[in-house]
Amino acid sequence: MEIKRIETDFLLIGSGIAALNFALHVIDKGKILILTKKKRTDANTNYAQGGIASVFNSEDSFESHKEDTLRVGKGLSEEEAVDVLVREGPSRVKDIINWGVEFTRDESSALELWKEGGHSHKRIVHSGDFTGREVEKALISAIKSYSNIRIFEHHLAYELIIADNSCYGAYALDVSTGEIIQVISRLTLLATGGAGQVYQHTSNPSVATGDGVAVAYNAGCKIADMEFFQFHPTTLYTPEPQERQFLISEALRGEGGRLYDQEGNRFMEGFHPKMELAPRDVVARACDSVLKKRGEDFVYLDISHEDEDEIKRKFPNIYRECLKYSINIAKEPIPVVPAAHYMCGGVYTDLFGKTDIRGLLAAGEVAFTGVHGANRLASNSLLEALVFSARAGKVAMDWMIQGPPPEDLLPSMKRRSTIEESVLAVHTRKEIKQTMWDYVGIVRRDYLLNRAQRRFELYLEEIEELYKNSYLSQDIIELRSLITVAYLITRSAISRKESRGLHYNKDHPDENESYKKHTVIRKEV
Ligand SMILES: Cc1cc2nc3c(=O)[nH]c(=O)nc-3n(C[C@H](O)[C@H](O)[C@H](O)COP(=O)(O)OP(=O)(O)OC[C@H]3O[C@@H](n4cnc5c(N)ncnc54)[C@H](O)[C@@H]3O)c2cc1C
Repeated sequence: MEIKRIETDFLLIGSGIAALNFALHVIDKGKILILTKKKRTDANTNYAQGGIASVFNSEDSFESHKEDTLRVGKGLSEEEAVDVLVREGPSRVKDIINWGVEFTRDESSALELWKEGGHSHKRIVHSGDFTGREVEKALISAIKSYSNIRIFEHHLAYELIIADNSCYGAYALDVSTGEIIQVISRLTLLATGGAGQVYQHTSNPSVATGDGVAVAYNAGCKIADMEFFQFHPTTLYTPEPQERQFLISEALRGEGGRLYDQEGNRFMEGFHPKMELAPRDVVARACDSVLKKRGEDFVYLDISHEDEDEIKRKFPNIYRECLKYSINIAKEPIPVVPAAHYMCGGVYTDLFGKTDIRGLLAAGEVAFTGVHGANRLASNSLLEALVFSARAGKVAMDWMIQGPPPEDLLPSMKRRSTIEESVLAVHTRKEIKQTMWDYVGIVRRDYLLNRAQRRFELYLEEIEELYKNSYLSQDIIELRSLITVAYLITRSAISRKESRGLHYNKDHPDENESYKKHTVIRKEV
């Protein structure tokens, strides 16, 4: 098979907030190629509703934002990283305002700030309840005016080109033609977002299969803290299974939403003094526990006691989406279930996005910067993506590969395909997602984790064989990513014999000081 070769200065894998913001920070430094798996707006970014946490309120302070972040991170957030996050945050928000992002303003034209669970002050900058869509739209529009940026949609990066611990670009599959391209680049940024699709129920779109973590792991990068996966407590329950579940934003609870079981008991009373404004992990576990105890599929989130016009003004997107399912949120409670939402761990980076491999940066949800620790404070992730992708932009020129790549970097093309293999891919994908949900989900047990791991070790071997011997397809590439991520989450969860933040293991229900450290895994390559 012919392989097309393309050369560029910057290869950006992904087209969410991290990649687009990085692009705008290196815009005058060379040719930029963005590869993205589906359409350019198919990204977690596009679905973010709540907003971006940042200090703009005179009663607020960097110290307070930092304290909230560290408290939620349960002793595992890196103080220096959090300091950078909160202090550089407002400037990065102003950058994107200058690039065209329109946030909601109050009567005096100041940024309207929301308060979300875990935050001590109103500090969520937002654009109605469709912040991510506005950010994505504005940044895409901002890069359009530059002739040195190209975006290839429907291009799935599946392997990094590595030699002598340096990254020379990546291989990608053009999903629409089946063609393979080799992109040789002086600098590569992984900005592939999260991995919610590894779980049966998720708020993440179909692109979130953890490809960035998988390719970095296979290239020999350190991967950290994968056991900390955040489950959003409230996504819309629908009787029919969905590819992704629609999120009922935290902000709805921040603005007075209350949780009830199906008998009308306000159950958060029994779980946390802050009730519905307790941190996400507490609320998710509470919902999970009520559902398991009562054997039901959903609990209720109710905001109908608030003023109808205000509900429609503040939550137009949620209001409209729920109406599609004949639920009028201004008049009745919303059936909700928890779902996998955010990957706190990821590819280990320093405070400038550098990975262990020269020429390779990572930013956004795919990266581990040390900010989140054992749990992510709401609305800190868009901020993290902005702050650290901009910092990555600052070091990009110094981190570039200087010489040409060694010859003979082409992968083996001896591949075959049979119909059984497609069946196997679809079937195995379902099994991985189900096993992750049942055994490596919100509440964990040692024997369930071990059971999952035995299966995943076997799948890992089988899928690697399949990957090496089949024609490349999106199914096979994503399956390889999913099993890698499932394996990394489970292995990390097994090694943490305590409960901390998002990792709750019933067999080790307390925090244990000797585990106050990151879980770091690296493949020998
Ligand atoms: C429903 C929802 C609501 C959220 N609400 C908030 C919020 O209010 N506030 C907040 O701070 N955070 C929120 N988050 C989290 C936040 O949106 C994400 O963490 C953030 O957008 C991640 O940005 P990113 O650029 O790292 O990745 P993404 O925006 O996910 O972009 C990843 C990109 O990589 C591409 N890609 C993936 N794999 C490949 C591959 N192999 N080859 C080529 N391209 C690839 C994808 O197609 C996509 O373009 C929310 C997330 C969800 C799902």
